[in-house]
Amino acid sequence: MLQTTANNPIPDNNLMNNDSGDINIEGSKVMLVDDNRTNIDVIKRLLEPEKLDFSMAPNGKVAVENAPVIQPDLILMDVMMPEMNGFEACKLLKENPVTRDIPLFFLTAKNQPSDIEKGFSLGCVDYIAKPFIGKEVLARVVVHLKAIKHAKLMVKLLEELKRSNMALEQKVVERTAVLKKAKEEAELANNSKTRFLSRMGQELQAPLNVILGFSQSMETHNLQPLTDEQCSCLEKIQIAGEYFQNLINDISDLGRIESGNLIIGMEEFPLSRLVDERVLPAISSLARERGVTIENQIPSEHSTFIFVDPIRAAQALVNLLTNAINYNKNGGNIYLERNFLESGKIKIIVSDTGIGIPEDKLKEIFEPFIRLQNHDFKVEGVGIGLTIAKHLIESMKGEIEVESEMGKGSRFGITLHGYQK
Ligand code: ADP
Repeated sequence: MLQTTANNPIPDNNLMNNDSGDINIEGSKVMLVDDNRTNIDVIKRLLEPEKLDFSMAPNGKVAVENAPVIQPDLILMDVMMPEMNGFEACKLLKENPVTRDIPLFFLTAKNQPSDIEKGFSLGCVDYIAKPFIGKEVLARVVVHLKAIKHAKLMVKLLEELKRSNMALEQKVVERTAVLKKAKEEAELANNSKTRFLSRMGQELQAPLNVILGFSQSMETHNLQPLTDEQCSCLEKIQIAGEYFQNLINDISDLGRIESGNLIIGMEEFPLSRLVDERVLPAISSLARERGVTIENQIPSEHSTFIFVDPIRAAQALVNLLTNAINYNKNGGNIYLERNFLESGKIKIIVSDTGIGIPEDKLKEIFEPFIRLQNHDFKVEGVGIGLTIAKHLIESMKGEIEVESEMGKGSRFGITLHGYQK
């Protein structure tokens, strides 16, 4: 006994708004339940402009049987009907989980307050008493259908959101795991490299002591004076030996840093003393050799104090200045300055007029064993000077930063706790 007028049904997932931004209810499925065919025709005519998809049932029993299959968006139901009245049908529909959420209107001549109350208590969403005003019925049906479509759209969007959220979360978990593994592998590789080099350093220290010791005693305790050629050879042995000694020291420092065994003894120390007595003497001959001028703009009076381990602070500054010399141009300049920050901290700046560092490498250069090799001259090194400097400064509760412009130069800043007297 079921009929449908679905000429051009809209797919259920067509929940989008129409061009005007309004909810599109065209094709919504409406079930009309009435034993009077004329009443059904009147309602159909009334709702015709909305291009709905109607199905009809002549009584409550047929409606209860067919609603689970058709799954209408809305049921308009008369109350007084043969076989099963509207109230009974509504009760059964609300008891069935498959149909319980389908909104139901009563459209009936039973218009006593107790009837209306009963209808609502059974779960109807609207109760329209006959005789009704056509436009009012149309307006109420449209409002409900739009609300239903809107709710379905929200559910669908929420489901999609949930799905994409879950997919995203899964991707984040996978990506994090991959990155974690890569980081662990890189750290492991680095640590083994450092351990290996540290071990090698220890093994090489004894023969190096012999080489350096004998070359020194040849210089001082020689019974016969050395020829010029012998002196020059001895000097080369000593320079190579010192370079090797520095390398061993750096590698064992990195080993100590990575194993957490670096001991830092903090004290307040005059900045100018640190620079004049410990930093500049260590690098002045290299600067001279490379034709690089160091302009020390830090006033020599002992008025600025920094909280540091003086040996380690000097080591970090020497590393920065060595790079500023090594990666400079011939005849280039280096400026050594200090600034007082608003935070009360003191910033030591080492800037150079050298080759510069590409923007995307500024972070990388602090990683161990990273060398950019973006120049055509040879610089000895293994790529741990900045790693050590960063760790030393951070161990002294300071910070290190860098900015650079390719071809123009680089500027390293070390911020430390301190004060001005
Ligand atoms: P090393 O000098 O032994 O290579 P570092 O850790 O001190 O190791 O520096 C890492 C790399 O960063 C260098 O190889 C160089 O490419 C780059 N670099 C460091 N300081 C400068 C600078 N002042 N100017 C240009 N490049 C620099």
